Amino acid sequence: MPEGDTVHKLADAIGRTLAGQVTARVTLRGETVPALAGRRVRAVFAQGKHLFIRFEEGMTLRSHLGMYGSWHRYASGEPWRKPQAQATLALWTPPEVLVCFNAREVELLRSGGIRERNTVRRLGPDLGGEGFCVDEVLRRAREFLEPETLLVDVLLDQRIAAGIGNVYKSEVLFVEKVHPTLPLEAAGDTVLRRLYTAAHDLIRANLGGGPRMTRRGNPPLWVYGRHGRPCLRCDESIRYARLGATMRSTYWCAGCQRSPAEPGADDSSRARFG
Ligand SMILES: [Zn+2]
Repeated sequence: MPEGDTVHKLADAIGRTLAGQVTARVTLRGETVPALAGRRVRAVFAQGKHLFIRFEEGMTLRSHLGMYGSWHRYASGEPWRKPQAQATLALWTPPEVLVCFNAREVELLRSGGIRERNTVRRLGPDLGGEGFCVDEVLRRAREFLEPETLLVDVLLDQRIAAGIGNVYKSEVLFVEKVHPTLPLEAAGDTVLRRLYTAAHDLIRANLGGGPRMTRRGNPPLWVYGRHGRPCLRCDESIRYARLGATMRSTYWCAGCQRSPAEPGADDSSRARFG
């Protein structure tokens, strides 16, 4: 699943191709959308993992790649590398065609309309955006979540804050020395604030080019994908399990991130800030 920084980079790249251009033809799941023929694209932007393409005269296309979606760019007439039947969305400008294959969600919205507003309201503050407000994240966590929700599930919930996928989930918990299965009520506002502030900093730091990094040097990630390898802080083997209600891959260090049931867990979660 793409993380928030991926979708921001994608929006920049698609914006460079599309913004200001007139689309000759747009298809949604193979069907031509007459309302979008001959329309100028005004803006392309990301919010969380959603990509919005806004057209003049009040139309917006929203897409979410899910696990299997991808965007391709082709010159007009160039053969596509995936079957046409897998194209969820395609936009033709005279010299090029942008194709989104196998997206989880694509829909046409009226800009500023109720459905667009609802989509945006369903999403928490954008961790890749400017003016990110961590107080709003805490407010949403209280509004939407049960106190016993595990942090692995909290961090992936896009209603609380938009942009954390599986990679940042594991990395942020490691960086802040917090165990993945700590429940929300045990974590409290202070830990939550630290986790989301770290996520915002890491996602923003990754908006430039290059591979995703959460630390300087090699390897570029602390724990993600490093099952069985030594922890880069304490040498203990990195653990791996599918955790939480979402049963998604999680990597952590049992030495640095004590389980809530273990003595000393509170000390370890506070250690970084002394
Ligand atoms: Zn460790």
